[in-house]
Amino acid sequence: MSQLQSLRGMVDLLPEALQRWQAVEAMAREHFQRSGFGEIRTPLLETTDLFGRGIGEGTDVVGKEMYSFQDRGDRSCTLRPEGTASVVRAALQHGLLSQGAQKLWYAGPMFRYERPQAGRQRQFHQIGVEWLGAERARSDVEVIALAWDLLASLGVGGLQLELNSLGTAEDRHDYRNALVAWLEQRSEALDPDSQARLSTNPLRILDSKNKDTQALLEDAPTLADALADASRERFEEVQRGLTTLGIPFRLNPRLVRGLDYYSHTAFEITSDQLGAQATVCGGGRYDGLISQLGGPQTPAIGWALGMERLLLVLEAAAQADPNGPAARLAVIPIPDAYLVNRGERAETVGLSLARSLRQQGLTVELDGSGSAFGKQFKRADRSCARWALVLGDEEVERGEVRLKPLQQQGEEVTVALSGIAAIVETLRTY
Ligand code: ATP
Ligand code: MG
Repeated sequence: MSQLQSLRGMVDLLPEALQRWQAVEAMAREHFQRSGFGEIRTPLLETTDLFGRGIGEGTDVVGKEMYSFQDRGDRSCTLRPEGTASVVRAALQHGLLSQGAQKLWYAGPMFRYERPQAGRQRQFHQIGVEWLGAERARSDVEVIALAWDLLASLGVGGLQLELNSLGTAEDRHDYRNALVAWLEQRSEALDPDSQARLSTNPLRILDSKNKDTQALLEDAPTLADALADASRERFEEVQRGLTTLGIPFRLNPRLVRGLDYYSHTAFEITSDQLGAQATVCGGGRYDGLISQLGGPQTPAIGWALGMERLLLVLEAAAQADPNGPAARLAVIPIPDAYLVNRGERAETVGLSLARSLRQQGLTVELDGSGSAFGKQFKRADRSCARWALVLGDEEVERGEVRLKPLQQQGEEVTVALSGIAAIVETLRTY
């Protein structure tokens, strides 16, 4: 029988990798809590319509990347390709916006049918924030700083913040016409994908990954020139705010987010460690989305970072600096004690002793093999536990357990099995 395999682009996360993963999530949770963001969890499965309306039919995500199917009730369902549309749907469904602005964060898997490669999977994971009701330029600065500081605290170096303004829908309308007119005269030089986008989603041509198209775009009209005064002033205020906080950035006039509902501030945080899939975090303002999904006109801003790409950067950082913060994230906690036990009665008592000690908050690894003491001691050494607890039928007969120091100098001590408090105290001191 052939070996069963996971689906292409769907990746298992194993305990060792999850160590660093958990540390990242814990750090993110801490940053969000300190900034007043509350967690939200929405279903992985939504109506297909939500993403059609919330992301836009002309985008790659909706056009060719969604996992959609009819369920048994013949409803068209889609595995969520991103978090924002679902968060807005939930906020509207539960009337959260009537209670004022909402600062929300989420973490979890997303699904996009893309060509798998390093940093690109079909099930991948994002951590993201959405601030619904955030209007002022200062909120853009705060939200960007939240992403920047989180990445910095994880020990990610070599990051670049790229910034652009997409202006308002009116700004983009004028610009789109100018860009299409300019590109139509040069359409032969465009790659086929970009040619198709001329009629469907011309702004997306700006972030084409095709080298020839990129070269052609060097001289194209830019969005910055098309911004109305108010949009331009707003953009400058965001830049001043970042400068005041000491957060460096680079203006990138070709930065357009793939999703249609963005306006004004758009940004990406990229890493020079990642090659082609360089963007770790992307976000921006989406003042049009909430009303588009049937809610009141409400300004909003958010971002999402890709866990897999962040983990790749963290691995590189940990290798470059084995004592740095990124390396420390992957440190596996060592057990307080390794319980060596053998014999019918000893193993029964061992299981219950391990349980009592764990209830006291200690980390105890119980050897469940029943193998020879020598073998168990080898494993105890390998576990790096500070103590071995030794239980054989003889010890049980005497109502005792032996505590043998493994990593540190010291005498072996014998403690009564009934004295859990005394055992805990000894394990905690050395
Ligand atoms: P890209 O241009 O790389 O496809 P995107 O614009 O589609 O990115 P967003 O929708 O903004 O990405 O998602 C935010 C982040 O999620 C990205 O910056 C990236 O880190 C991560 N991400 C997006 N798609 C994938 C994927 N298929 N596999 C792994 N991570 C992804
Ligand atoms: Mg994409």
